[in-house]
Amino acid sequence: MSQTDAPTGLYIDGQFVDASDGGRFDVVNPANEEVIASVASATEDDAMRALDAAQAAFPAWAAQTPRARGEILRKTWELIMADQERLARLITLENGKALSDARGEIAYAAEFFRWYAEEAVRNIGDVMRSPSSGARILVQHKPVGVGVLVTPWNFPAAMGTRKIGPALAAGCPVVVKPASDTPLTMLALMPLLEKAGVPKGVVNVIPSRSSGAVVDKLLHDPRVRIVSFTGSTEVGRKLLHGAADNVVNAAMELGGNAPFIVCADADVDAAVEGAMIAKMRNMGEACTAANRFYVHESVHDAFARKLAARMGAMKIGDGLEPGVEVGALVNKETRDKVIHFVEDAKAKGAKVLTGGRALDRKGFFYEPTVLTDVADSSDLLCDEIFGPVAAIQRFSDEDEVVRRANDTQYGLVAYLYTRDVGRGLALSERLDFGMIGLNRGLVSDPAAPFGGMKQSGVGREGAHEGMMEFLETQYVSVAW
Ligand code: NAP
Repeated sequence: MSQTDAPTGLYIDGQFVDASDGGRFDVVNPANEEVIASVASATEDDAMRALDAAQAAFPAWAAQTPRARGEILRKTWELIMADQERLARLITLENGKALSDARGEIAYAAEFFRWYAEEAVRNIGDVMRSPSSGARILVQHKPVGVGVLVTPWNFPAAMGTRKIGPALAAGCPVVVKPASDTPLTMLALMPLLEKAGVPKGVVNVIPSRSSGAVVDKLLHDPRVRIVSFTGSTEVGRKLLHGAADNVVNAAMELGGNAPFIVCADADVDAAVEGAMIAKMRNMGEACTAANRFYVHESVHDAFARKLAARMGAMKIGDGLEPGVEVGALVNKETRDKVIHFVEDAKAKGAKVLTGGRALDRKGFFYEPTVLTDVADSSDLLCDEIFGPVAAIQRFSDEDEVVRRANDTQYGLVAYLYTRDVGRGLALSERLDFGMIGLNRGLVSDPAAPFGGMKQSGVGREGAHEGMMEFLETQYVSVAW
C-alpha cells in the first residue's frame, strides 16, 4: 500500500530489501493525517548489513581519482534537478511543507552535489621545512572511513545531501538513518545516485523505528569512524556520549534559538522582507528560524504592523494546492507544542496581532502568528518554536540587545538589520553565533560553513570545512 511511487525498502548494497524481521512502519501525510506508505524498519542486524556493505565499498571508492568522484557527484546534481518536481511533491506529501518550499529544498539539496563535485578535486595538502630539524613536513588528508549520518525531518532531502556530498567527495562510504517521519525522500534519491554512477555499498539508507538502538549499535562498531548528526541538542548529546566509547569523530548540527535584531536605523521594509524568510521559510520548522525578534523601540510599531500584515495574508492549506504558502506542520506533537507556546505567551501578557489559532480541520495546521509585548518568562523565548510564530520584543540600546541576544545556550544564527554596515559588522563580532545574517534573512548556502557555537553544535557543514570533517590529516616527517 503506497500513495507514492517512492521505494519503501531499506537500501543496502545497492538494493532495496525488507527488514530482516519483516518490520515496517507507517508514514503519514500531515496535511490530512492519511497513511501514505509503509516503510521497512531496520533492525540492529540490518544496520550491520549496511555497515558491511559500506566497509566493503570503502577501499575502491577511496581509491577512485578525485576527478572520477567529482564527475559522479556532478551527474547526481543534474539528475536530481531534472527530477525536481517529483521529488518536491514527495517532500510535501511526507513533510507537509508548501510545494514552493519543497522545490526550494530540492534545489538546495542538489547543490551540495554540485558544490562537492568541485570540492572533491581540492583535497589539498602541504609541504614545509621543519624550522628546527630541517626535515620536510608533508601533510595530506585521507578519507576518515565509514560515516553514520543521522538526519531530521524538517529538510528530508537537504539535511542528508549536506552530509552525503562531502562524505563522497572525501572518499567515505556512508550509512544514512533518515527521520522516521520523512524517510521516503532519501529513499527516492537512491536510484538517482545509482544512475549517476555511485557504486553499490557507498551509500546505504536504513529508516528505522528503533533509531536509538540501531545508531548505538553502529557507533560501537570499530569500523565506523565518524558520526554526522543533525537534529535536537538532546539527541546530539546522547550521540556524543555514544561516540566517546570508540572515540568516533563527531559533527553535530543541533538546535538554535535565533535572535532577529532590527536597529533604529534599519530599512524597516527590508527587515520585514528578511523576517518573512527567516521566520516563514519552511513554516518556521528550521533550526535557522528567527525565534526572538528584538526591535528598536523607535521602529517597533511599524515593523510589527507590517510583519503582521504580510504574515496574516499568507495562504494556508495542503501544501500541494496551488498558491499555498503555509502547509501543515510535520506532526501532532509539533503542532501541539506551537499551541502551547502561544497560549503560554498570551497568558503572560502577549498581544496577538495576527493568527494565534490552530485550524479546525484535519491535518496539523497553525496560522501564521505575530505576538508583541511578549514577557521574558515566556517559554517560546527559551525554546525553539519550530512553527510560524513571530515573538516580538522592544529594545532601547545596543549593549542591552547584545546581552539579551547572547543570553541562550544556543549559538547557531543571528539576524541583524541596520543601514550602517560598519555598525552591523561591529555588532556581529559581539554576537556569539556561528552565522550572522547581516541585512539578510537567509544564511544557508552550500558554499558557506554552516554551523553553530555553544550547544548548537560541533563542526561545520558546507564549504571546504564540510569536506574536512570527513578527512583525517596525516603528516609524514621526511628526511630529505
Ligand atoms: P531529533 O528528534 O533529534 O531527531 C533527529 C534524528 O535523530 C532522527 O533521524 C531521529 O530518528 C534520530 N534519533 C532520535 N533519537 C535518537 C537516538 N536516541 N539515537 C540516535 N538517533 C536518534 O530531531 P528532529 O525533531 O527530527 O529535528 C528537529 C531538530 O533538529 C531541531 O532541534 C532543529 O533545530 C534541529 N535541526 C538542526 C539543524 C542544524 O543544522 N543545526 C538543521 C535542521 C534541524 P527518529 O525520527 O526515528 O526519531
